[in-house]
Amino acid sequence: MEKIQDVKLYINGQFVDAHSGKTFENLNPFTNEVINRVAEGDKEDIEAAVEAAYTAFKGEWGNMKVSERLKYIHRIADLIDEHIEEIAPLESLDTGLPISQTKNMVARSAQNFRFYAEMVASRMVGEAYQVDGEFLNYTIRKPIGVAGLITPWNAPFMLETWKIAPALATGNTVILKPGEWSPLTANRLAEIIDKAELPKGVFNVVHGFGETAGASLVAHPDVKLISFTGETTTGSEIIKNGADSLKRVSAELGGKSPIIVFEDADFERALDASTWGIFSFNGERCTANSRLFLHESIYDKFVSALKERISNIVIGDPLHKDTEVGPLIHVEHFNNVKRYLEIAVQEGAEVYSGVIPEEFHKGNFVPPTLLLNVENHMRVAQEEIFGPVMTVMKFKTEEEVIELANDVKYGLAGYVWTKDIMRGHRVAQGIDSGMIWINSQNVRDLRIPFGGTKASGIGREGGHYAFDFYTEVQVIHVALTEHHIPQFGKPKA
Ligand code: NAD
Repeated sequence: MEKIQDVKLYINGQFVDAHSGKTFENLNPFTNEVINRVAEGDKEDIEAAVEAAYTAFKGEWGNMKVSERLKYIHRIADLIDEHIEEIAPLESLDTGLPISQTKNMVARSAQNFRFYAEMVASRMVGEAYQVDGEFLNYTIRKPIGVAGLITPWNAPFMLETWKIAPALATGNTVILKPGEWSPLTANRLAEIIDKAELPKGVFNVVHGFGETAGASLVAHPDVKLISFTGETTTGSEIIKNGADSLKRVSAELGGKSPIIVFEDADFERALDASTWGIFSFNGERCTANSRLFLHESIYDKFVSALKERISNIVIGDPLHKDTEVGPLIHVEHFNNVKRYLEIAVQEGAEVYSGVIPEEFHKGNFVPPTLLLNVENHMRVAQEEIFGPVMTVMKFKTEEEVIELANDVKYGLAGYVWTKDIMRGHRVAQGIDSGMIWINSQNVRDLRIPFGGTKASGIGREGGHYAFDFYTEVQVIHVALTEHHIPQFGKPKA
């Protein structure tokens, strides 16, 4: 791969250095060498970006015909498609996610733009009521204004476009604050949007840290909404900080999702699903099935099959086409995940891990790991580890497993494996989470909402939920007759 250029901020249609001139290092998770340097935006840069976005909203973008606006959105989708072969390796280089997985995510990102362009074309409509022939009441949908989008480092390109596509298609202007450990593809997206020739200021990217750039975006009074994806503690802080300026906030937060395998499940498919669901994306996935509950009658057989799978998983260079598990994003996160493996031992769990090939010792590799002999109260069963680590527990009855699955603060996703259709639905409905898959793994149509309950978030993304979030409803009341209006203060005849 060619030398990667340093990353600048993208404000008002220009790639610029941070106002302070500061930069920070971006590391390659496979080698821990510096890939490049990134402009470190903070309050001043956010202010410049908000001013540009506000001006664009009040000006050309805000006044553009919808049909014209949607041409830009389609153009972005086409440009992403044209560059998949180049964006996917950048994403893998920056995050450690295997290339076979980033390719699919990039393709999905282009679809996000097309999907919302089509939704706006067909649904940017309202309701109308004729009231007793005297009034016409109707609603229209309007964009809200300047949208602040704050995203994490996992699956960055896809998660960023989940937000950018509906925000822009519905007519808002955008400031993206990407995760600081994954700046490369956000920068590539800025280049693509620049090439699509959106009016200046419609789309802006301010790289930098959460406490400075992120917090300034949340605090800015001209930013009307914040869409956030990240950790639960950060989400709660953003909701609090956004309250001063009455921001609309959506928060997609952490998870600790159960996968429940009953004795009658299709054994091989449940094995495929539970293995893929925790070890794909290096386990750095909010919907990862990090807690496996096995019916006691299949426990031994399933665990030994899992161990065999672990010994065969291809660990290695994220840019190699055959790699299944790559290095974790950053040495700091790597140390956190390793710490959980020590905690597991202290808590009395048995740790069963795959082996990292000797030649990869420089990277942030954590081998695919099972935690056995786990009890639900242990920290490793309750806290989000966000790596290739899955706890495994036994259960006897349906009631017991529903209780165990729900006994956690998170409620993002869940997976149920059984051939008994009635039991599948019953258990799915008994689990307190935003999303549940029965005999399936994380396949999601773009029309379907995405999001969690409890500590996993507030609000939903996807489908018309994102469309609703990024638009304001205005009601217009029209009189059709000269109806009675009380005549206060009018002299009596
Ligand atoms: P994080 O919360 O540390 O950071 C996310 C973003 O918030 C970053 O851009 C960061 O700079 C910014 N930020 C941090 N502090 C801020 C503040 N005070 N004000 C404004 N912005 C601030 O999360 P992360 O470590 O980057 O991502 C991993 C987390 O994201 C995991 O918990 C994972 O489960 C979650 N996640 C959730 C979903 C979902 O859809 N539910 C999807 C992906 C990831």
